[in-house]
Amino acid sequence: MSVHVTGISGIPLIQKGDDLPAIICRNTTFEDGDILCIASTIVSKAKGYTRALADITPSPDAFRISGLTKEDPRFIQAILDSSTEIIQEYPFILSEVPCGHVGVRAGVDNSNIEGENIIILPKDPSAECREIRAAIKKITGKDVGVIVTDTCGRAFRRGQCGNAIGWAGMTAIRDFRGDHDLFGLELEITEEAVVDEIAAFSNFIMGESDNGIPAVKFSGCGTWKGHDSLFFTKEEDLIRKAMKR
Ligand code: GDP
Ligand code: MN
Ligand code: MN
Repeated sequence: MSVHVTGISGIPLIQKGDDLPAIICRNTTFEDGDILCIASTIVSKAKGYTRALADITPSPDAFRISGLTKEDPRFIQAILDSSTEIIQEYPFILSEVPCGHVGVRAGVDNSNIEGENIIILPKDPSAECREIRAAIKKITGKDVGVIVTDTCGRAFRRGQCGNAIGWAGMTAIRDFRGDHDLFGLELEITEEAVVDEIAAFSNFIMGESDNGIPAVKFSGCGTWKGHDSLFFTKEEDLIRKAMKR
């Protein structure tokens, strides 16, 4: 297997209302089976999922948490507004967002946006992926998988990685259960989070600062079979249960 990875350059600073699929298709070509990773940051900017800090009135809870974390209470309020469940408040807010993703500060971001504005994660990132995938199909005629990524911290290990927060045109998980290893042993629990693996490498190409590469194309990943239950349910999630105790 040989995979070709391309950071897509030539994308301008994205503004609300910009047609991302059209902009991306002007700056690269696609073949059937390619996978396009897009930073959630530009999806949110294009769709207007941003907020001006000046327009946010912090609640008593936001002031209370801000006293702990020393962050702007308006920023904290935006995190609370973006969250469906707060798992931890301090030393940083860890929460669940509507799509089931659990992340630090609910993915609310003040980098790579101008002025006193903040970026909110798309509420339904997989719907954004389906929309972008359909638009690319319309423009190019090609069948392209789409992953929306965000840079996320990890449990147990230092350092952030790109995670898939939405996807379309592939299953999130490649299911190895029922497969046999080199010695004929049947695999009983192995599920590979392929969309996260691809998102992580795309994040490596994007960088975090002023690289200006918010989209990465993968050619040659092939196909796989599996399912889309990437996010643990509350019942399954042992770490979350332990933190809630
Ligand atoms: P996140 O991981 O989704 O929070 O996005 P980041 O803020 O880490 O940005 C990922 C990549 O996209 C970096 O290379 C940024 O420089 C780049 N980037 C962010 N916004 C824009 C934009 O509006 N236009 C372009 N061309 N690049 C951007
Ligand atoms: Mn982010
Ligand atoms: Mn990032």
